[in-house]
Amino acid sequence: MHCPFCGADDTKVIDSRLVAEGDQVRRRRECVDCKDRFTTYELAELLMPRVIKQDETREPFDEEKLRSGLHRSLEKRPVSVEQIEAALSQIKRYLQSTGEREISSRLIGEKVMEQLRNLDDVAYVRFASVYRSFQDLNEFRAELDRLEEEGSGDKAAE
Ligand SMILES: [Zn+2]
Repeated sequence: MHCPFCGADDTKVIDSRLVAEGDQVRRRRECVDCKDRFTTYELAELLMPRVIKQDETREPFDEEKLRSGLHRSLEKRPVSVEQIEAALSQIKRYLQSTGEREISSRLIGEKVMEQLRNLDDVAYVRFASVYRSFQDLNEFRAELDRLEEEGSGDKAAE
């Protein structure tokens, strides 16, 4: 972005935060040349990064796809639509806050798993089993073992 004071081509972002309930990103920028600082407000919607798929092709971020994935994993589980929407917002906020223009589908998958793990263990395992089958089966087994251990650990603590 051009510096509004001296017109230099290069400015750097020194701070980036979500405002207006996550609909906008406020950025403090500093001119590399004259060191003056200014603020920009950018629509968060425009800032959803593109998704880098496993085969290195890019596609636009697809909120509906993510939502239906969450719903599928949470089918017949005691989790409300509001909770699912909250999880979705968390994931989107995270993606926006990175400030990256492109983000790997793998990282998105990790974020989804993080959210599902907080919501419901069964949904988490469902999602992870589908997701990780394309990644690394050993990693998935290790995760299952870990979950089982955590489970038995809880019982021992009671
Ligand atoms: Zn300047």
